[in-house]
Amino acid sequence: MPGLGNVTMETIEQALYVVATPIGNLADMTYRAVHILSGVDLIAAEDTRTTSVLLNHYNIRTPMKSYHARNVAQQTPLLIDLLKQSKSLALVSDAGTPTISDPGYHLVRAAVEADIRVIPIPGASAVLAALMAGGLPTHNFVFEGFLPQKKGRHTKIARLAEESRTIVLYESPHRIHKTVDQLLEAWGDRPCVMARELTKKFETIHHTTLSGLQHHIRDKKVKGELVLVIHGATDKKNSS
Ligand code: SAM
Repeated sequence: MPGLGNVTMETIEQALYVVATPIGNLADMTYRAVHILSGVDLIAAEDTRTTSVLLNHYNIRTPMKSYHARNVAQQTPLLIDLLKQSKSLALVSDAGTPTISDPGYHLVRAAVEADIRVIPIPGASAVLAALMAGGLPTHNFVFEGFLPQKKGRHTKIARLAEESRTIVLYESPHRIHKTVDQLLEAWGDRPCVMARELTKKFETIHHTTLSGLQHHIRDKKVKGELVLVIHGATDKKNSS
């Protein structure tokens, strides 16, 4: 790898490495992430097909096991057993930072309970990338992930109406119209940002207001992955 200078890469330990991977642009992989993924005994991947594209790109030959929402109960104890047998393991999600809105949390929790060292390897994250380019206050923010689709949705939206911190949501392109309509009705008009396809070829970061966004997407099919960043309820603490 070019450009490492005199940085020495660490020795791989018996540990669970929680490794961030790119959210679109493969060049957002860190040197350290490549080193760890190349050196561990096994990679637990949310989607082995997606991760194999990344591994091929970086010529990483480490074996993978799938670890996703539907096999968490069955795979967690097996992976913890491997760690107890002095194996090193890396956890990666479909994209971005594992454990943020994905099932990786369960494995980390189990490793902590089993006294196994957990080592974070930070990198790309859709939440942080959206905040970085959003231009809304970031001294405080609240990440709510995906809003509930049905049960609890109205309660959650109503509860957040008084939230003074900047609010970050993940949203699917199929529900964005409904979400913007409901937020505008419940929260009133406010500055917001729709960050779409971050780090990818068709990245667009739309700095607007909830009513402006409603207008912008009206009668349009929105495509790609989305993060919504919305100004908190007006509060002096949040305007620095
Ligand atoms: N662990 C990931 C992270 O660190 O960002 C997030 C996983 S979550 C299951 C997937 C959601 O993240 C998508 O539905 C979308 O809301 C958001 N997301 C992921 N990649 C994105 C991108 N390149 N641009 C915008 N949003 C993205």
